[in-house]
Amino acid sequence: MKCLITGGAGFIGSHLAQELIATGNFVTVFDNMSTGSRENLRDIIDNPLFELIEGDLLDTPMLEQAIAGCDEIYHLAAMVGVKLILERPLDAMRTNMEGTAAMLGIAAARGRPVLIASSSEVYGHATREPLAEDDPRQYGSTATFRWAYAGAKAMGESLALAYHRRERLPAVVARLFNVAGPRQSAHGGMVIPSFVEQALRGTPITVYGTGRQTRCFSHVLDVARAMIRLLRSPEAHGEIFNIGGHGTITMAQLAVRVRKLAGSSSPITFVPYRDAYPDGFEEIMGRVPDLRRIERAIGYRPELGLETIIRQVIEHARAGTPTMA
Ligand code: UDP
Repeated sequence: MKCLITGGAGFIGSHLAQELIATGNFVTVFDNMSTGSRENLRDIIDNPLFELIEGDLLDTPMLEQAIAGCDEIYHLAAMVGVKLILERPLDAMRTNMEGTAAMLGIAAARGRPVLIASSSEVYGHATREPLAEDDPRQYGSTATFRWAYAGAKAMGESLALAYHRRERLPAVVARLFNVAGPRQSAHGGMVIPSFVEQALRGTPITVYGTGRQTRCFSHVLDVARAMIRLLRSPEAHGEIFNIGGHGTITMAQLAVRVRKLAGSSSPITFVPYRDAYPDGFEEIMGRVPDLRRIERAIGYRPELGLETIIRQVIEHARAGTPTMA
């Protein structure tokens, strides 16, 4: 297969590219390199099955050309990370809304199967546990930019589903829950690379708020493999799927775990949200994925747990490989 990955030079996209190449596919990465990097692609950049196009989703002729030459599309290009989104809300909305709309329009015109990477952010404050794909969502004010990101992602999902229904576009939506693993950058404010960086430097590990908020983390490789299987399962088209991990942990417990696995003596400090985030931040106290739908569809079960994730992130950081966004 000839696979196109938008945002393929980013954290998740580069792992997906590697997995597709390892299984004999040809991969074209389409990336504007705003937060992605060549460093993320260094294991595959010279592979004959790999091609990099430096282009922007809003450059229609370039995107048309890339889509014309492929058999399937993984749409991962987006601005992500709560901190980054709050700092650059306009860029985040333009990329996430206009970029996704442009890509879907071309994919539909050419009838190319497409997987849209969405986010558990779309659930917002919804408190049901676990969260199932069709559960109601709950957002705060439109003036709070975290919800603008959630809204943009949600609109991308709806657009993909509408193209599926109206124009028979083979489209599937993957809602990702706190993906982590080697090469994730602390730049967008993501918690695991941030804690690991702090633990290895011996500086305070910064737990925001009370530290009682919880998350379920998923390993990037489990996520990449699930995305490939979803897109290649025609019965999954037209549906939304949670992809996540098992095991809920509070951020205070996570700090202790990272410190221990890193062999660090960093103190753990609690930082008020107002000192941690730009204006427009609201915390989400917990979110646990209901994985029954994806298990039924493709037999998905997360294989790599939190301990593996933390160990690999530590190993990667120790190797001194520059991280990517
Ligand atoms: N967090 C933290 N310290 C950090 C970075 C994040 O305590 O240095 C917390 C953050 O407030 C949130 C959780 O970790 O409760 C996960 O944050 P992240 O940005 O990784 O993901 P998201 O909030 O999008 O789930």
